[in-house]
Amino acid sequence: MGSSPTGLRDARSATLRRRSFLRAAGAGCATALAALARPVVAVAQDAPVTPAQAIQLDAELVRTGLYLIRGGGGNSLLRLSANGMLLVDGNLPGTYRALMSQVRRISKLSDMPVRVLVLTDHHPEHAGNSAQFAAAGITIVAQREALANLGLPESQDAAGRSRVIAYDDERTLRMGGVEVQLKHFGPARTSGDTVVYFPDMKIVALGDLFATDAPEPDFAAGGSLLGWGSVLARVLELDFDRVVPGRGPVVGREALVAFKDKLDAVVSRAGALVRAGVGEDALMSRLRTDDLGWQLDFTGTALNSFYGEFR
Ligand SMILES: [Zn+2]
Repeated sequence: MGSSPTGLRDARSATLRRRSFLRAAGAGCATALAALARPVVAVAQDAPVTPAQAIQLDAELVRTGLYLIRGGGGNSLLRLSANGMLLVDGNLPGTYRALMSQVRRISKLSDMPVRVLVLTDHHPEHAGNSAQFAAAGITIVAQREALANLGLPESQDAAGRSRVIAYDDERTLRMGGVEVQLKHFGPARTSGDTVVYFPDMKIVALGDLFATDAPEPDFAAGGSLLGWGSVLARVLELDFDRVVPGRGPVVGREALVAFKDKLDAVVSRAGALVRAGVGEDALMSRLRTDDLGWQLDFTGTALNSFYGEFR
């Protein structure tokens, strides 16, 4: 499937909004986004403590029109446009109100709704509030396997608008003059990982495809350490200079290159050991990763899967 517009257009609610979109998509668009680009720091602390605000989330500007919301189990990204907002990942169960409170803080100048939630995979720290987002009328987009892992079927509302959208290899979302590309390059962390690419910003959001410590394939959900390197090779073909991981701070492209180099080393070493006849029970003790600063410790069915990748 090639790049195509999504149901985002369908999600556009009223003619009025369409007119304002068309105006804003012209010369005024950049100005509108620039006006929104104020740093929002530690905003959870300066209000009376309510259950929502007791969950510590904070937000920072990544690049004009793009905010990182940290906490709640993982990172979320908010992309502003002249016709609404797109959120990447929706945090752990129970954090919906805190997350949306951050979203409202960031968006209060625009008074635009969140229209789309993109899930980088099905894990609870990304997809934990999907039911609330769906109930709020927000369109959810994820790779087909991630939706299957979530048990979330594709759906439309009574008016025929797509509410849950699955894609296979890639999907381009367009909203208010902003383009966001979703790409699935094969199994790595899970069988349904999504790379979110903001081409105009030269930024990729990778979810759990980048980690500050060792990679952890979710083998039970179709993950693969062997496939992970080739997925990152495809990511590195994109033109970007900053990487937003599923948790932790934004890093530069060179951090992703270094992560892939280490991952390639692990795969190469494990493959050599298995080819040399090292059995499954001895693989982890023979596989050297301390020089990479990683502690890989696959046991049980994860070890079965890991070993099985090299046979
Ligand atoms: Zn995940």
